[in-house]
Amino acid sequence: MGKILKLHQMLLRKEISAKELTESYIAKVNNENPALNAYVRVTEEKALTTADIIDRKIAGGLTLDLLSGIPMALKDNISTKGIETSCCSKILEGYVPVYDATTWHRLDEKGAVLLGKTNMDEFAMGCTCETSVFGASRNPQNTGFVAGGSSGGSATAVAADLALFSLGSDTGGSVRQPASFCGCVGLKPTYGAVSRYGLIAYASSLDTVGVMAQNVEDTAVVFDSISGFDPMDSTSQADYVPCTVDSLEKSIKGRKIGVPKELLEKADPEVKALLLKSLEKYENLGCFVEFFSMPNLITALPAYYIIACAEASSNLGRYDSVRFGNRAESFESIHQMICKTRGEMFGNEVKKRIMLGTFVLSDGYYDKYYAKAQRLRQCLMAEFEKVFAKYDVLITPTSPKTAFKIGQIQNDKEASFNADVCTVCANLAGLPALSLDCGKDEKGLPVGLQIIGNRFRESLILNMARQFEIARGTESEL
Ligand code: GLN
Repeated sequence: MGKILKLHQMLLRKEISAKELTESYIAKVNNENPALNAYVRVTEEKALTTADIIDRKIAGGLTLDLLSGIPMALKDNISTKGIETSCCSKILEGYVPVYDATTWHRLDEKGAVLLGKTNMDEFAMGCTCETSVFGASRNPQNTGFVAGGSSGGSATAVAADLALFSLGSDTGGSVRQPASFCGCVGLKPTYGAVSRYGLIAYASSLDTVGVMAQNVEDTAVVFDSISGFDPMDSTSQADYVPCTVDSLEKSIKGRKIGVPKELLEKADPEVKALLLKSLEKYENLGCFVEFFSMPNLITALPAYYIIACAEASSNLGRYDSVRFGNRAESFESIHQMICKTRGEMFGNEVKKRIMLGTFVLSDGYYDKYYAKAQRLRQCLMAEFEKVFAKYDVLITPTSPKTAFKIGQIQNDKEASFNADVCTVCANLAGLPALSLDCGKDEKGLPVGLQIIGNRFRESLILNMARQFEIARGTESEL
């Protein structure tokens, strides 16, 4: 049984009140957050108000949603009406949205208790959370290591049990990679399965809102609560009716698992060894495992960085201090106002990507870089179609390495780009993918296994993950 369901039953039986539960989490956050830096803003008042409403509902015998009274967190790029949402950037410091993101709106309606906004790489650009204006989140398994990124704070909060679940965003791996580094579950949905309305854009054709939780069942519960059609997002899928929880306990006997050699070979020996051991577990569960080659998977990484930066350069144009964003203090002309604002208030990583994106879209280079990357994306999608005619799911490492030391790759662009080699393909092809803990390396740091499914097969990848979790035998207990 998942932790959310257990707490739900305790709330119904009045073994604990929503207020007590919320207060215990707030106390924990106040205690542990200074060392972990998972939250950049704690919303204590809002949390206690919601808890109070839930307690009154319970007292009145009203029906309660599974998520009512459950303490949770949101990445700082998910818009929250009346609550600052800064993308951990100086340019949006103090920005208070006037509307809720659909994902948050759906959770809020169900009575989920928002504990606060979590740390992230500035504008979700990075893989260590170190580009945050608030400094890096720490890995709860060992605070000398990064939490991963960009949703580092969300992963830390969940793995350290400073929240039952959190929402993050995944453009190239930002939910799965930190989940893998910190040792929790991370689900990136199919593009179009979860509304992007109110998610502050990084690269719109790749952006998704994903779920992080302490176990697979909780992940499924949250996914079912936030997914489904939203008229406010033009890329939302109209005919998708999600219900993944019911499939979790199904047998996976006879399922065909494909393992692309190209991604396995990228992994460090310890990561590879644990992955191979996990595949044996799947074989013991009656699955067929086959190693195969998909050479164009290697083109995903350069194609991703060209497309992501191109889209970012366009999306971030709105921060000119007129439409959005803070303004530089002194300037002599409008031109200088915009230049100084963007120069002073964006961090270096963001500026680098805007410049790279502008370059690949510029006259003379568009065909050479951007159009070529789009063609590679098309080829990759076509290849995945063929692969999923043969296999039910693909399994790869989530990240070729375990968590980096704080500062280790801060100035090493190649290492940080390479960290995304296993995750970006799912974003380019719009596929659902999940990261699940499959053991620890010699340093005691978690290793993540990634399950990739065909479009809208969230039920299947969660089912595959749940059965592995049972076989692994380490269900997190209350
Ligand atoms: N590390 C990748 C990047 O910096 C992915 C980030 C994300 O998924 N938001 O682009």
